[in-house]
Amino acid sequence: SRAVVLASRPVGEAVRSNLRLETRELPAIGNGQVLLRTIYLSLDPYMRGRMNASRSYAKPVEVGEVMEGGTVCEVLESASPSFSPGDIVLAHSGWQTHAVQDSEHLRRVDPAKAPISTALGVLGMPGFAAYVGLTEIGRVVAGETLVVAAATGAVGSAVGQIAKIQGARTVGIAGGASKVAWLRELGFDVALDHRSPTFKNELSEAVPDGIDIYFENVGGAVWDAVFDHLNDFARVPVCGLISQYNEASAPPGPDRLPQLMSAINIKRLVVRGFTQRDFISTHYSAFQRDMAAWLSNGRIRYREDFVDGIENAPEAFFGLLKGKNFGKLIVRVADD
Ligand code: NDP
Repeated sequence: SRAVVLASRPVGEAVRSNLRLETRELPAIGNGQVLLRTIYLSLDPYMRGRMNASRSYAKPVEVGEVMEGGTVCEVLESASPSFSPGDIVLAHSGWQTHAVQDSEHLRRVDPAKAPISTALGVLGMPGFAAYVGLTEIGRVVAGETLVVAAATGAVGSAVGQIAKIQGARTVGIAGGASKVAWLRELGFDVALDHRSPTFKNELSEAVPDGIDIYFENVGGAVWDAVFDHLNDFARVPVCGLISQYNEASAPPGPDRLPQLMSAINIKRLVVRGFTQRDFISTHYSAFQRDMAAWLSNGRIRYREDFVDGIENAPEAFFGLLKGKNFGKLIVRVADD
């Protein structure tokens, strides 16, 4: 198998020398296991956290180990009664061309239902994060204003479109003119560029009635701009903070934590972190049903950004942390 392994831990920004391409021997398949051929590898922001030694809600990748990641694979050989050669499965087999996996951790993907790559995006983990963050924390009431950044991404584009279906007025934030244009096509009521020098003013004008739900994907300057506009009883599902993932230390400046705590107190804000994983047993089947229906009736659209070849995964991943992707970032490891 050809694989990308963690060569060293980054200090601050992740760089090419932190990852290494190597050829690895695969173990023989044991009872209950399958041999997989990777077709698609998902690249996701959480992978930056796995490169650090510190534990987040999952343990880090060890130096010398294959980088972790969700994949869509074909079963080549099976020693499991549950799968046969030719089956397409959703796995977590990492940045490698082939893998031996326990069959109990695999989920079947039906190629007749949707393009199989969507199991990594709109019909998979990021789409589910959008769905569950809105259902459990955002709790849209029709007529409310929702703001989301990284809005053309896998999570953000689903957040904006689901909230619209639920009756919200939606404000999407993204980096650059072509992303902003696509947000308008998707039906966001307002689309803003966070790189614009007048972004703060544009946001003020876009939310005359304040913000009821801020779906937090990025942190940093966008959160700063949003913070002043939060209404009483606003909800902030804290899904991710991508602007901070490459930072080794806090930025200099005054300590604004007391101001944040006052706002939480006085405005009765709900600021709640979550990971989609905690909701798989309770919400995954409802998500699959609803999202499949929204895709088939055209109420939700999605965009994928494909990169060819496992050897190009590192550069593509570094680009994700800087907004170079446009849509769900996926490596086409082999033909389907
Ligand atoms: P995206 O496809 O949205 O890609 C990341 C995007 O983040 C970039 O394209 C860029 O968009 C934006 N971005 C990067 N740096 C900055 C910055 N400094 N300021 C503002 N925007 C920035 O990724 P995902 O949809 O996969 O993930 C979005 C967020 O959701 C991440 O924080 C991720 O960690 C989180 N997440 C959380 C899950 C959970 O269970 N809690 C599950 C899945 C994802 P642009 O060019 O528009 O700025």
